[in-house]
Amino acid sequence: MIVAVPRETYPGETRVALTPDSVGPLTKAGAEVVVEAGAGVAALAADSEFEAKGARIESDRAKMLGEADAVLYVRGPGSNPEFPDSDLDAMKQGAAIIAFLDPLDDVAKMQQIAARGISLLSMELMPRITRAQSMDALSSMASVAGYKAVLMAANAAPKMFPMMMTAAGTLKPAKVFVLGAGVAGLQAIATAKRLGAVVEGYDIRTAVKEQIESLGAKFVEIKVDVETTKGEGGYAAAQSKEYYARQQELLGEHLSGMEIIITTAAVPGRKAPILITEKMCEGLRPGTIVVDLAAERGGNCALTKPGERVDYNGVVILGPLNIAAQTPLHASQMYSKNITTFLLHLIKDGQLTLDPEDEITAGTLVAMGGSITHPMVKEKLGE
Ligand code: NAD
Repeated sequence: MIVAVPRETYPGETRVALTPDSVGPLTKAGAEVVVEAGAGVAALAADSEFEAKGARIESDRAKMLGEADAVLYVRGPGSNPEFPDSDLDAMKQGAAIIAFLDPLDDVAKMQQIAARGISLLSMELMPRITRAQSMDALSSMASVAGYKAVLMAANAAPKMFPMMMTAAGTLKPAKVFVLGAGVAGLQAIATAKRLGAVVEGYDIRTAVKEQIESLGAKFVEIKVDVETTKGEGGYAAAQSKEYYARQQELLGEHLSGMEIIITTAAVPGRKAPILITEKMCEGLRPGTIVVDLAAERGGNCALTKPGERVDYNGVVILGPLNIAAQTPLHASQMYSKNITTFLLHLIKDGQLTLDPEDEITAGTLVAMGGSITHPMVKEKLGE
């Protein structure tokens, strides 16, 4: 079977789906790896390095796609609004795209691609089970984003993070609050701690208390006296309007004492909840930096403008997009490891074998054999 790795086409995307170290394991499993010329350059993976590991470099993109059984992208159709239709035209029937597909955002698009006889496997839908942990690219990218968010905040802040005892006096450490302590939030907490800040974390899932404390941060208890909807699979669920209103009220009181706020709260398949309203921003001290990691899904702060910096009465709100692309070397290395482990799981006797009975395949498979297969996508299509 042939595994193709095209150059990413999303503006500003620096990652590549496969790095040279992953070529060996795939070749050993019976696959031939073909990489589009220059695909890894922005991630510091030169064509010569791919070749040295046994990959073939191809400069004719359409030719490469035409012979591929599996095509690996970081941003596939769905997560890349600039995705070229010519890629789909070039692919043969029965070929599979494995990528971040954002399949629930534009289900009609998924259906159109399915109708071409192309199989779709979504990295976002990877089941959160122990067996699939090394295939979990969302977690990998969230780790990068959590780390980077703290560096962005530190750069934008009017003060330094650590406490410093100097001849010119003692400087107080920065007070950092991390809202949402999932993968990105925990990494943000760890990074802010390493920089010497005083860190607090909060999440709707109280199960993270221990994880926050094990990083040396304080878990903030905000008891929202409205019924909570419990999520599944380690995720949070969307809450009622009353819940969010009460949560905002209680959070507002706490946030006014903070200097750095990193927000990461997300609910799978939905717009991010607004947890910091404009009124709450009015209560923040001038000089406070908010880094809204949920900007890609609309943001946790009402004033966030995705991709922009907002100055509001001395409060700075950053809404960075595609943060992982700012760390292309490690982000690509992690993504490559995740996608390769997944692909090796799908290869049987040297052939790509999609078994809908397998939990990992079924969890990620959006389309096969001309139709949509995933229940969440079907539901959104009204099927
Ligand atoms: P996510 O990106 O969907 O959400 C980020 C965080 O926001 C979550 O911790 C969520 O609880 C929180 N949140 C949502 N609404 C909120 C609100 N109103 N107020 C406060 N916080 C809110 O989640 P994620 O980081 O991808 O993962 C969440 C959890 O899933 C992890 O912490 C972990 O326990 C679990 N997980 C399991 C595996 C595995 O078993 N293989 C892999 C990765 C993650």
